[in-house]
Amino acid sequence: MEIKYLPGIGPKRAEILANDAGIETVEDFLFYFPYKHVDRTKFYKINELNADLPYIQLIGKIISYEEVGEAHKKRLVAQFTDGTGVIELVWFKGLKWIKQTYKLNQPYIIYGKPTLFKNKFNIAHPEIDTYDDDEKQQKGYLQPFYHTSERMKNNFLTSRAIHRYIAYCIDKYIHELEETLPDYLLQQCRLMPLKEAIYYIHFPQTVDDLKKAEYRLKFEELFTIQLNLAYQKTMREKVQTNLVCSKVGECFNRFYSEKLPFQLTDAQKRVIREIRHDMGSGRQMNRLLQGDVGSGKTLVALMVALIAIDNGFQACFMVPTEILANQHYANIRELLNGLDVNVELLTGSTPRSKRKIIYTELLNGQIQMVIGTHALIEETVQFKNLGLVIIDEQHRFGVAQRARLWQKNEFPPHVLVMTATPIPRTLAMTLYGDLDVSVIDQLPPGRKPIYTKHFTDLHRNKINELILREVEKGRQIYVVYPLIQESEKSDLKDLERGYQYFQKHFPQLNVCMVHGKMKPAEKDAAMQGFLEGRYHILVSTTVIEVGVNVPNATVMIIENAERFGLSQLHQLRGRVGRGGEQSFCLLVTNHKLSEDSRRRMQIMESTTDGFVIAEADLKMRGPGDIDGTQQSGMPFELHIANLAKDQQLLQYARQVAMQIIKSDPLLANPGNTKLKILISKTKKENVNWRLIS
Ligand code: ADP
Ligand code: MG
Repeated sequence: MEIKYLPGIGPKRAEILANDAGIETVEDFLFYFPYKHVDRTKFYKINELNADLPYIQLIGKIISYEEVGEAHKKRLVAQFTDGTGVIELVWFKGLKWIKQTYKLNQPYIIYGKPTLFKNKFNIAHPEIDTYDDDEKQQKGYLQPFYHTSERMKNNFLTSRAIHRYIAYCIDKYIHELEETLPDYLLQQCRLMPLKEAIYYIHFPQTVDDLKKAEYRLKFEELFTIQLNLAYQKTMREKVQTNLVCSKVGECFNRFYSEKLPFQLTDAQKRVIREIRHDMGSGRQMNRLLQGDVGSGKTLVALMVALIAIDNGFQACFMVPTEILANQHYANIRELLNGLDVNVELLTGSTPRSKRKIIYTELLNGQIQMVIGTHALIEETVQFKNLGLVIIDEQHRFGVAQRARLWQKNEFPPHVLVMTATPIPRTLAMTLYGDLDVSVIDQLPPGRKPIYTKHFTDLHRNKINELILREVEKGRQIYVVYPLIQESEKSDLKDLERGYQYFQKHFPQLNVCMVHGKMKPAEKDAAMQGFLEGRYHILVSTTVIEVGVNVPNATVMIIENAERFGLSQLHQLRGRVGRGGEQSFCLLVTNHKLSEDSRRRMQIMESTTDGFVIAEADLKMRGPGDIDGTQQSGMPFELHIANLAKDQQLLQYARQVAMQIIKSDPLLANPGNTKLKILISKTKKENVNWRLIS
């Protein structure tokens, strides 16, 4: 049922609820879960108050009101007593309404944070409830809090109001709600039935009720995702493909024996074996390649592409930025020099005439490997027989964008997505649970851990000394500034100022600048100059964050480092330490730092392990903020479970889901009918789930 027909809602509020909270039906209301519950089972006395208390509640009476201050800045002060003392309640808004609503000498429950001011406690904008003698209230209860937007609040859709509507919906409609999980699962996993869980999540009488309700709802949420992933994976594995890359041919072998500039690491060898096996299996490969920055994923990608080419297929290598595409192209051209492989580059700045030729040659099969950016996704790009798609830094692409590449063939091509963002295991399980995962867990030999140090901007001298020392050794320096879209203008100013600073302080050095707002040609010229060693210092925004490879650069200076997230700092740091030299990462921040920022700097100083950093990031920021997941948008939304906090439950849900799919891969048993429904519901929300990595 639509909510506009509920008493007290009407079309205007219905629209606000739909827009701001996604609530359109009675069922949406029931599933609009509180984000927290506050224990209101305890009441304090005024003479027990101290300044360290968080939110507390008191029972007492307002004995007087007084308006204080000048016309524009008036505030309302009430004296409130419970017989053990007196405190002040203060309002800066809605004075008239407050005075009318809350009468003198009536018992109220007030709720808020007491602060000590001029030796007297006050509570600003307290929540106020009438005090009834009923039993429930005397015992106290767990009060749910619901997310509300500013607009919702202005239209009387406060957390409390929402709670009231939910109460109404539960009362009238909960009997219509059907259980979503089969009985055997409820028993096996000791889960509360859905109706009860919905009731207790909104109206818990005890902490125990609440825990059980939460557990059931979180389990269902995580379990559904995992069941879906497991189901899709088995479905995919059933499908045969004619894209069989079973032989290792001339290109691969000649490259291996004549061109390979160094020994592969054991991890690289293992990963190539895993991929070869997939590609030769007669089933579509769908594999995630994880490897920390600098672990040598590009080479693996190239060698895998050669396998596809040896078997008569085309390979496509998509990367997120033009700089990176150019670099990979140059790099790969050089590595393949002398081999009979036709490689092309396709980006947004490929001239139109050249583009036409590329389109033709992709269609007739003359081009065997194409490297490029988003330009590859366009409909005009058609292949003769695309066998393999490799996506570098895959988190930079939206899910839908990636899926479009898959669709360029009758049979979906083999897919290898690569990421240097070391996604924590929990997140990987949830995001990519239907992918096979390969990990390069080893850096090429001779790498020294990057020395990382946090400086405040009061210590420029030390930083500048290091720059000079390294330049004298023939090394190069990166300086990176944050660029946030919302404050783009002032950020660009920071960057310009930084550029001028380094020019002025090091007149004897060549300094260049790169940022996203420059013309591609200028950008390329600067980048190319830095690559070739003609510039000592590159001042840039995060355009260099992803994948750029200049092994001679040994110093990464990150300005305003407090404005970057951990994963991004790690990515940036990974630009250095790529040769055999000792490298340095200097994190420069304001000397006033929040506790969080300081902690982030400490983590960066203490470890270079991408996985440790990713876990820490997940814990500090919550999964919605993890670099990457935000950009790609998680393929689903979590309403109640929390990936950072509910890791154990996730693992359990996954186990249960896998067991079920193992014994009933098609969910064809009558006992699993409910599960089949569960999956078909989520599929509607996630179009093309099967094709999405
Ligand atoms: P990433 O995994 O971050 O994409 P790259 O593929 O850019 O890393 O590789 C980083 C650097 O390591 C490059 O300069 C590359 O040539 C070099 N490299 C890759 N594999 C090896 C290896 N087995 N031995 C030595 N150097 C290697
Ligand atoms: Mg890379």
